[in-house]
Amino acid sequence: MMANSYTEQEALQHYLRHPLMERIVQLKERNFEASKSCSYAPKNVEEAVDNYHSVLEIVGDICANVIAPNAFGVDNEGPTCADGKVNYASGTRKNLQACKQAGLMGMSMPYQYGGLNFSNVPYLMAADMISAADAGFVNLWALQDCAQTIYEFGSEELKNKFLPRVCAGETMSMDLTEPDSGSDLQSAQLKATYSEQDDCWYLNGVKRFITNGDSDIHLVLARSEEGTKDGRGLSMFIYDKRDGGVEVRRIEHKMGIKGSPTCELVYKNAKAYLCGDRRMGLIKYVMSLMNGARLGIAAQSAGISQAAYKEAAYYAKHRKQFGKPIEEMPAVAEMLDNMKAKLDATRALLYQTARYVDLYKTLEDIAKERKLLPEERAEQKKYAKMADAFTPLAKGLGGEFSNQNVYDCVQVHGGSGLMKEYTCERLYRDARVTTIYEGTTQMQVIAAIRYATNGFYASVMQEFSQMPVTENMQPLQCVLQELQEKYIAMVDLMQTDNLKDYIDAMSRRLVEMAGYIIMGYLLVQDACANDYLFGKSARVFVAYIAAEVDKHCSYIQRFVSIGRC
Ligand SMILES: Cc1cc2nc3c(=O)[nH]c(=O)nc-3n(C[C@H](O)[C@H](O)[C@H](O)COP(=O)(O)OP(=O)(O)OC[C@H]3O[C@@H](n4cnc5c(N)ncnc54)[C@H](O)[C@@H]3O)c2cc1C
Repeated sequence: MMANSYTEQEALQHYLRHPLMERIVQLKERNFEASKSCSYAPKNVEEAVDNYHSVLEIVGDICANVIAPNAFGVDNEGPTCADGKVNYASGTRKNLQACKQAGLMGMSMPYQYGGLNFSNVPYLMAADMISAADAGFVNLWALQDCAQTIYEFGSEELKNKFLPRVCAGETMSMDLTEPDSGSDLQSAQLKATYSEQDDCWYLNGVKRFITNGDSDIHLVLARSEEGTKDGRGLSMFIYDKRDGGVEVRRIEHKMGIKGSPTCELVYKNAKAYLCGDRRMGLIKYVMSLMNGARLGIAAQSAGISQAAYKEAAYYAKHRKQFGKPIEEMPAVAEMLDNMKAKLDATRALLYQTARYVDLYKTLEDIAKERKLLPEERAEQKKYAKMADAFTPLAKGLGGEFSNQNVYDCVQVHGGSGLMKEYTCERLYRDARVTTIYEGTTQMQVIAAIRYATNGFYASVMQEFSQMPVTENMQPLQCVLQELQEKYIAMVDLMQTDNLKDYIDAMSRRLVEMAGYIIMGYLLVQDACANDYLFGKSARVFVAYIAAEVDKHCSYIQRFVSIGRC
């Protein structure tokens, strides 16, 4: 039988069976109206979920038989830059061709533009699998996500011009970062000037660290309001490579994800289209774009964790020392169990967040067609807040876990782990960026901390703690409830008047505790649905986070007492 990254992973299929999927599909398919005019649109929920399975099986096939086998060559060869243009590695070109031929570009776009109208859950599952096959390639594929920004905020004219091209396989990039403007995007300087004479905008300046910077269609953050210095002077533009005016000055030589070209771009009077309203570029559109892209990195992290676990488990089964396979040594087995638990916890949070995003974004989209009912408006508001609160946790903790997992993967391999012949050497390098781009872990903490201090995470935990669990999982649910109390005590402690100054310094620990406990509750729910797949991970993870929460509490208490004396 041919290898297939989807059918081989029963755990992935589990996420499509979640009870919320039915509601998501009904909303996404507008009660299956599209099936009247589009031959491949589903007629009911079962058909829609079957479509998801079929497409994911195709993704699984391409991952196992095209992308993964090409990964070693792509990592060695890398892209090159000549005459202001990028040439992909030969394996990258083949990967892109395979994805294009299978109709995997513009997957989430509505049928009318040639997309598959996929919800976020299966789209991110595809990203998860592609990342496991080659974490560098997924960047090129997943930048199709930028189309969502054009779909949400662009005019009809822009949507009709660009979205069918994305669905037909043209690639995208997201041009935000500049040499002096990284985490602090509000200081971006690339200049947008409106020409009355030509009735269009022109861009001038430099962008740095742009993934797939020689793409066909760019989203560009630029300063349209002369004399401004902050985010309120920035707008979002679309640059079409067919118009010319952007040159790739160089490609960075990086530690990992080598197949993904990271470019320095020079804009010289490049014609561009304003996307949405002026001044809303950073405040509204980049925030929305980044939230989507952050979940993409959480999926990339899950994929890397999956690949790391698979490689480590395989090696540990076949490597013998002291007369037996090393997987039988408790110290090695513990590493493997922890890796699997962190992988399953990452996915539990990732796919839960994806479901929240699906629900609120689809309702938001429906609101453009008709007035939402009061209960739909309430639903939209609830899930928008959940998505906003969970996204930085999924990205931040997913990225950190993937780095811990590749570290353990190399450890399980011993000396061989440093050798190029082993996939884990590449995974180790590829994982590093997941805690840096799309906002560093520190920036995720800044986005999340208000949900700790305003009690929102505590209220979510309270809701999750009331969810029914199987008898098997009851003891774990009790431990989680204890951890929840410890977490709340720490948040309360930091809120006391004389300690408020310490919150910034302690916020990583508070946010990590919240994320761990929420992941724990979700993983326990997965284990209730399927103990065979997730039971062990739930037990290992809850024990792991119990120790981490105690450590954080102890640190905070000591920090406070030392700081006060
Ligand atoms: C391989 C790669 C691909 C990339 N692709 C893209 C892309 O496609 N498009 C794009 O626009 N950008 C891209 N980037 C840029 C990326 O998003 C930035 O590197 C990232 O946002 C961090 O910015 P910086 O590198 O300038 O670091 P800095 O902002 O200088 O940060 C340095 C350190 O300071 C910390 N720090 C900064 N501010 C704060 C704060 N307020 N509080 C606490 N800590 C803080 C950071 O967490 C970090 O540890 C890419 C980067 C890389 C490495």
